[in-house]
Amino acid sequence: MTIIDGKKVAQDILAEIAGEVEAIKAKGGKTPHLAAILVGNDGGSESYVASKIKACEKVGFKSTLLRFPDYVTEEKLLQAIANLNNDKDVDGFIVQLPLPRQINEHKVIESVLPQKDVDGFHPINVGRMVLNLPCYVSATPYGIVQLLERYHVPTSGKHCVVVGRSHIVGSPMSILMAKNTLLGNCTVTLCHSKTENLKSHTQKADILICALGSPEFVKADMVKEGAVVIDVGTTRVASTETKSGFKLQGDVKFDEVAPKCSFITPVPGGVGPMTIASLLKNTLLAAKKEIYS
Ligand code: NAP
Repeated sequence: MTIIDGKKVAQDILAEIAGEVEAIKAKGGKTPHLAAILVGNDGGSESYVASKIKACEKVGFKSTLLRFPDYVTEEKLLQAIANLNNDKDVDGFIVQLPLPRQINEHKVIESVLPQKDVDGFHPINVGRMVLNLPCYVSATPYGIVQLLERYHVPTSGKHCVVVGRSHIVGSPMSILMAKNTLLGNCTVTLCHSKTENLKSHTQKADILICALGSPEFVKADMVKEGAVVIDVGTTRVASTETKSGFKLQGDVKFDEVAPKCSFITPVPGGVGPMTIASLLKNTLLAAKKEIYS
């Protein structure tokens, strides 16, 4: 059994990006610039954005954080997005989700210029992904694909079961794994909360990708011997073991599932760091204008 070290792979990717940034700067090019919009002060969102900014510093990107109170109006937020769309120095930007109730999330996502949508949430980027056209792939699925690639996990002809069908993880993941590309060519089953007898599906998975947000939901009896298990879940649960008073828990009961696996990702240190590395990879692509040329 191999524990997939997402932290190490993410560090490798960040080092590769830093090398490219240095080369761009050495040639007199513009420093890649990622901006982030953060609304309110939800603890999870604060720490995700802080990690993204820190990663920008690490690779030599310029970063800008725009903060708004949780009572911000939709109009004001859309104006800030329009400003970033028009700002020639900003290569890409993200709006950290979730947003407060008075803001229409779809309207916000659709107002981001697809060329700067490094989160890959805009319908144009999603559509281009489905059609196999150059696009920004949503960071978490993109991170998982890179983990499978770097660990040489065979996918062609395998049965991949994805649990969870959200727009940002499960659905794009199922599409990527079914693609007729080098990393893909799986037969995919996409499960969700209405799936009957979920266990009968997960037990048949050569590759099981869990993105439901239910701590330790996947037990050993749900997993086939030798399976590859990717745990996307990150639920903050109370903990006396940490200074912050909480810890992140995955969707998989790691201790009992791991011995049955050929490969497994831990939480933390699996998919999470890859999401940030992939966001920065997308930003570098945006800076190089490689997707929409
Ligand atoms: P989400 O939008 O809440 O979607 C959860 C999905 O799981 C839904 O499709 C839901 O089905 C399905 N589901 C829930 N309970 C289920 C059950 N008992 N059986 C089968 N399916 C079930 O969540 P998300 O945004 O995709 O995130 C999922 C998890 O990944 C969360 O823990 C989140 O924090 C984590 N995450 C981690 C990263 C990272 O970088 N590591 C990034 C993004 C998300 P329905 O559609 O029928 O409701």
